[in-house]
Amino acid sequence: MGRITLDKVQKKFGDVEVIPPLDLTVEDGEFVVFVGPSGCGKSTLLRLIAGLEDVSGGEIRIDGNPATDLPPAKRGLAMVFQSYALYPHMSVRKNIAFPMKMAGMPQDEQDRRIAKAATALNLTDYLDRRPGQLSGGQRQRVAIGRAIVREPAAFLFDEPLSNLDAALRVGMRMEISELHKTLATTMIYVTHDQVEAMTMADKIVVLRAGHIEQVGSPLDLYKAPRNTFVAGFIGSPK
Ligand code: ADP
Ligand code: MG
Repeated sequence: MGRITLDKVQKKFGDVEVIPPLDLTVEDGEFVVFVGPSGCGKSTLLRLIAGLEDVSGGEIRIDGNPATDLPPAKRGLAMVFQSYALYPHMSVRKNIAFPMKMAGMPQDEQDRRIAKAATALNLTDYLDRRPGQLSGGQRQRVAIGRAIVREPAAFLFDEPLSNLDAALRVGMRMEISELHKTLATTMIYVTHDQVEAMTMADKIVVLRAGHIEQVGSPLDLYKAPRNTFVAGFIGSPK
């Protein structure tokens, strides 16, 4: 389960309308990429979905249920940030276990989920290390592991790879795509990098100044960009 619908979702900061009323459907299991230039509202839109910001208008539904007024913890979604937000004094195992411990989950269930996440992310040999003893890519995997153990309806990624160097980014892209195949869970992935958008997405949402310029598969957008903004952003020849 992980179908997310936005119905005329709007966001203002004071008098400034950052997201004009916007409609969008993310299907269950889909890998959707929000792409657009810096400042166009990608993070804000993701934070509205996560519940980290309140909407100024409109409705959010998750699997058909009203979610607009639910706090983040009740939405069943997991957010992965670019800054890994790991606890430096805790082992990898404890970092991954943290949300389950907070939720009071039985230890054997915690252990089962940690083992599953560690296997999916190639972290089995690193569980007793601390974040400071890991590479950037491994730290990012721990942050993803902490999301996986919550078994969310959808993963929300906000430019998760922007702190990594170019070579590592390519590898992590493939790992996240692979993870999407393995888990078959909805993923919404924010990036300003059109290569990431084109290589990872089932569906791309091109944003400009808070509104949607075009939605479609990478091939749709490449073959038939609606305007020069989309064409320029997607890197197609129009
Ligand atoms: P992106 O992630 O695409 O770079 P953001 O969603 O971070 O864009 O920002 C979109 C716009 O909203 C920007 O103009 C930004 O300055 C503004 N903005 C974001 N957060 C706040 C906030 N808490 N208060 C006021 N303005 C904000
Ligand atoms: Mg952002």
